[in-house]
Amino acid sequence: MTAKQRIIFLDNNSTTQIDKRVLDSMMPYLTDEFANASSTHQFGVTAHDAVKTSRKRVASLIGADHHEIIFTSGSTEAINLAIKGVAEGYQSKGKHIITVSSEHSAVLDTCRYLETKGHQVTFLPIAPTGLVELEELKKAITDQTILVSVMLANNETGTIQPVKELASIAHNAGALFMSDATQAVGKIPIDVEDLGVDLLCFSGHKIYGPKGVGALYVRQKGERVKVPALLHGGGHERGFRSGTLNVPGIVGLGTACSLAHSEMASTKKKVEKLRDQLESALLTIPGTSVNGATAQRLFNTSNILFKGVDSDALILGLGNLENSSLLVAVSNGSACTSTSIQPSHVLTAMGLDEVSAFSSIRFSLGKFNTQEEINVAINSIRLQVEKLRLLSS
Ligand code: PLP
Repeated sequence: MTAKQRIIFLDNNSTTQIDKRVLDSMMPYLTDEFANASSTHQFGVTAHDAVKTSRKRVASLIGADHHEIIFTSGSTEAINLAIKGVAEGYQSKGKHIITVSSEHSAVLDTCRYLETKGHQVTFLPIAPTGLVELEELKKAITDQTILVSVMLANNETGTIQPVKELASIAHNAGALFMSDATQAVGKIPIDVEDLGVDLLCFSGHKIYGPKGVGALYVRQKGERVKVPALLHGGGHERGFRSGTLNVPGIVGLGTACSLAHSEMASTKKKVEKLRDQLESALLTIPGTSVNGATAQRLFNTSNILFKGVDSDALILGLGNLENSSLLVAVSNGSACTSTSIQPSHVLTAMGLDEVSAFSSIRFSLGKFNTQEEINVAINSIRLQVEKLRLLSS
């Protein structure tokens, strides 16, 4: 990007720009208040208190108690801790895990790893809407099932799964329920008690917080969930996750959670309006359609199929507009798997053929997007699609 170029960032499901208020809250802990939160001197106590406040803020956003929160480096680590932890901690009960074919690679690859260690994993199919059908879980679950892991909202389509109903089926069969809520936290109201989940994770950088910090909720009310540690050492985070605490990151995560909590309704109102404008304008281009259910969907996401257009060429074109100072950043799948040339596993699980999956673009808006940006993006996308179709005709 040159000094004159500005990015219209419509890829907020990959990461978000840090909120200035989050950064301001972190700065003291990167500078003057740099102490180790485990040190017993006054300096350490200040850092420890900041972590305590942050833990309460994080817990409050999801209806948990502060002692049910474990700070991690992000969702990937939290998912590994949760799934491998249940696999190890509950193996005397059974070795069967159920997840869904449209989960994030952090869940899928952790499950595939466990298959190599003797666990059996069922990958449930999804409907063309992107939703898991309750009957599919009822058919797959057995008395050997120890864990069901279903994401709350999908990163590529925004589809919101019926987690409360799925968790209830899991519990009736005596299994624990885990939800990867990385895309949902901060966007939709979440109450772990109401949802009935036992484990839930998310990352700071998806909610205008810093990268490299996240949290895992581990139910401690009623029957406690026990997950053995992945990282051993000084016994931090009540033995669940050793290692010197990332105090600035944790403080930033706490501020991001507080802001997401208090501004959830206003952010939804603003972003949903922009997303809907973008979507309806793009759907006037011939040969376009939305992938997935639009009723049960995150307010910021739209996954659109542009028939006859190669999505990589479109992404490249939008990032290299001749004579333009405004570049549009979008994606065609999860940033975490974008180095692979496979079609999106989420879209193919929904029944799209490979060509259609390779012609689909994910638009994910955020609270810093403006009306002017959306207007510019609509025009740029329309022009690029027309150009690419002309070139390939
Ligand atoms: N789960 C979902 C649904 C995600 O979208 C992501 C990131 O894109 C992750 C997990 C992994 O999060 P992180 O890279 O912050 O560990």
